[in-house]
Amino acid sequence: MKLFSMNLRPPVLAGLVAISAGATPAHALKVFACEPEWAALTRELAGELATVYQATHALQDPHQIQAKPSLMAAIRNAELTVCTGAELEAGWLPVLLRQSGNPAVQPGKPGSFEAADFVQKLDVPTRLDRADGDVHAAGNPHIQTDPRHIGLVAQALGQRLAQIDPGHAAQYKARTADFLKRWGEATARWTQAAAPLKGTPIAVQHKGFPYLQAWLGLKEVATLEPKPGIEPSSAHLADVVAQLQRTPAKMVLRAAYHDGRGSQWLAERAKLPVVVLPFTVGGSERAKDLFGLFDDTVDLLLKAAR
Ligand SMILES: [Zn+2]
Repeated sequence: MKLFSMNLRPPVLAGLVAISAGATPAHALKVFACEPEWAALTRELAGELATVYQATHALQDPHQIQAKPSLMAAIRNAELTVCTGAELEAGWLPVLLRQSGNPAVQPGKPGSFEAADFVQKLDVPTRLDRADGDVHAAGNPHIQTDPRHIGLVAQALGQRLAQIDPGHAAQYKARTADFLKRWGEATARWTQAAAPLKGTPIAVQHKGFPYLQAWLGLKEVATLEPKPGIEPSSAHLADVVAQLQRTPAKMVLRAAYHDGRGSQWLAERAKLPVVVLPFTVGGSERAKDLFGLFDDTVDLLLKAAR
């Protein structure tokens, strides 16, 4: 009995656990993805080579996430974090990273991947003032609404996966090339289908769509939030209605995770359709993956513009 119990030293147990986990390859890379779009992209590029923990879902406000124990447990074991960066996760990710004691995924390490590093950001403020609301100092972080950004991030993420897990570098490279080919074709298709939207005036609830607007040439003529992250007062809403009488919009855009009351109120006053965009993977029935996200987004906009 004594000998038997001596055999069950921690390393032996650890080995047994690893073998019994069996469903994924023994060396599956542990990835912590902050938002659904990056979880989806990692799955496209890594397939079975990674187990992806998705920290948030499409109906959560990515600015306002609780640093829960379940997130802590996931980040403690992660070998790679794939997040937006540009301060989108400033309210919760740094706390998790500090308390995780996981050196591999600290900022600046190869295990920390920030998608926003690989695209040109819009709305970079020229001055920073708390009174301006929840301003994103590094520029607008909602980069995933332009499919060309997904392509740029995919290229960089494919390289990072190969760097972190060099034993499978060839597979990451092949999967990334395959994804980029399909993504390039799909992006050309979406861009062509959405061409009639160019110049369409829109109102938005939160400044969540500057990249979508830039991609499709939509013209933002009104914003419901007086300042980012700040609920509109009734006086401000009245101003917006007056503004829309001078410069009419064709639709009000909001993301699936936004509280719909403000945009609904505005839509009724200004007689505009509200378009609820999925904003990320899982934000609508059709947005089951990255391709579905843009199929749905473009169709919803075209329908509302008719
Ligand atoms: Zn924002």
